[in-house]
Amino acid sequence: MKRPVKQEAPYEAVVIGAGQAGVPLAHALARAGWRVALAERADLGGSCVNFGCTPSKAVIASARAAFQARRGAVFGLRVPTVEVDFPAVLDRARSILMQSRASLRRGFEKTDNPRLLAGHARLEGRAGGHFRVRVADRLLKARRVVLDTGTRADFPPIAGLSALDVLHSENWLDNHELPRHVLFAGGGTIGLEMGQFYRRMGSRVTIVDPGEQVLKREEREVAHLLQRLLESEGIEFRLRSRVIAAARRRAGFVVTIEAEAGGREEFRVTHLFVSAGRRPNTDDLGLETVGVRPGQDGFLQVDDRLATGSPGLWAAGDIRGGPMFTHTSWDDFRILESQLLGDGSRTTRRVVPYAVYTDPELGRVGETEEEAREGGRAIRVGRFAMRDNSKARELSETEGFIKVVVDASDGRIRGASLLGADASELVHVYVDLMNAGASYTVLRDAIHVHPTLAEAVQSAVASLE
Ligand SMILES: Cc1cc2nc3c(=O)[nH]c(=O)nc-3n(C[C@H](O)[C@H](O)[C@H](O)COP(=O)(O)OP(=O)(O)OC[C@H]3O[C@@H](n4cnc5c(N)ncnc54)[C@H](O)[C@@H]3O)c2cc1C
Repeated sequence: MKRPVKQEAPYEAVVIGAGQAGVPLAHALARAGWRVALAERADLGGSCVNFGCTPSKAVIASARAAFQARRGAVFGLRVPTVEVDFPAVLDRARSILMQSRASLRRGFEKTDNPRLLAGHARLEGRAGGHFRVRVADRLLKARRVVLDTGTRADFPPIAGLSALDVLHSENWLDNHELPRHVLFAGGGTIGLEMGQFYRRMGSRVTIVDPGEQVLKREEREVAHLLQRLLESEGIEFRLRSRVIAAARRRAGFVVTIEAEAGGREEFRVTHLFVSAGRRPNTDDLGLETVGVRPGQDGFLQVDDRLATGSPGLWAAGDIRGGPMFTHTSWDDFRILESQLLGDGSRTTRRVVPYAVYTDPELGRVGETEEEAREGGRAIRVGRFAMRDNSKARELSETEGFIKVVVDASDGRIRGASLLGADASELVHVYVDLMNAGASYTVLRDAIHVHPTLAEAVQSAVASLE
């Protein structure tokens, strides 16, 4: 049966997906006088607000509080017991994400432009210079379309998986039962962050990954030290191994893993958490109707202005391949603002930092030493061990190190890896120098407050002398 269609005047732009780029872009275009619609099929804020950064970092904060309380004796304190109220931990995270969601909603309450439309949006070709976009029972026309549809959890081929209720990066917040034993299929960022969270809540945690190391993009020494630190908290790892089968068994699951070298192992666990990456939401967008075909992995190919091959069709955020972070998606909004409303000077040629929110944290920007050497560059490498920083000792958080890679010819910073307390904050010192195109000597000659962890950032470049 054909659905009734509501016809409307054409829009200057339709934005699909209320993620990190979609919401601010829709507002910016509307402020510039464009008639704009923003289509969202779920909750405002996308992955980051609803199940990603916001709630995960909130529960990680609870886990850290529990960890610090348990090691009270280190600080001369007696903390007799630390009890975890797991539902309360999740409720706290949910209330924080609800604040973000509510604040996004308020932005649409007092205005009809941008117009917020609820429902799945799909392209239905082009006619007369306009894209046709269906959102529920509406058929919109738009001169331009911006796609910001994000990603969803990816599920590797595991026999029996489709019949099971497993945890993944989108539903973990709805599981109020503290796992007795949770096995993670995947030792990337989400596996490590969530694995440490559950461990500090009191779960037994096993992380399985086919790679030779955790965090496959990172330098071996960083990955190895982080793994060792997580093991010291009781997290078990099975590397060069993959989960091949899972089945329900009484109150839990029996999970079979196979090692690359051969040999199988069975785990009886209460929960299986699939943390094997994310897949782009590009397969149900009607892209074929406008002549666009995503790559085999589902990501869209865009140029450095975020333009797809189809004139007037732009892509932002995780679906455009490359770095998949909230801050890069948000910066995509600035690129599109520059391309659609400004002088077009802003592009994806940018310095992209990121962090892994384990404890200790990993802060990263630019090239690793291995990458710079593979690129054949003449480099110098500065290093500093966090145990030699006075603030780290005062905090009893001396694990980790800073490694900074500097171009031998002009002293510019090419990249840095910081494994240690507050590394997600400290990395920005290097980010700002890289954006300024400044030599490391600017940082070497600066005065940093004592005692601070920021002194360690300076000590790492001072070690180049
Ligand atoms: C557990 C977890 C933790 C994370 N932690 C961090 C972190 O600490 N820091 C960080 O930088 N990044 C983190 N990320 C990644 C971050 O969440 C994403 O990179 C970011 O949200 C991507 O934004 P986006 O704009 O591309 O898409 P999203 O934020 O995912 O938004 C896409 C939106 O599009 C909607 N949509 C999709 N298809 C359609 C359609 N056809 N019609 C209408 N609407 C549609 C979706 O419902 C969604 O709301 C984390 C991710 C996860 C899963």
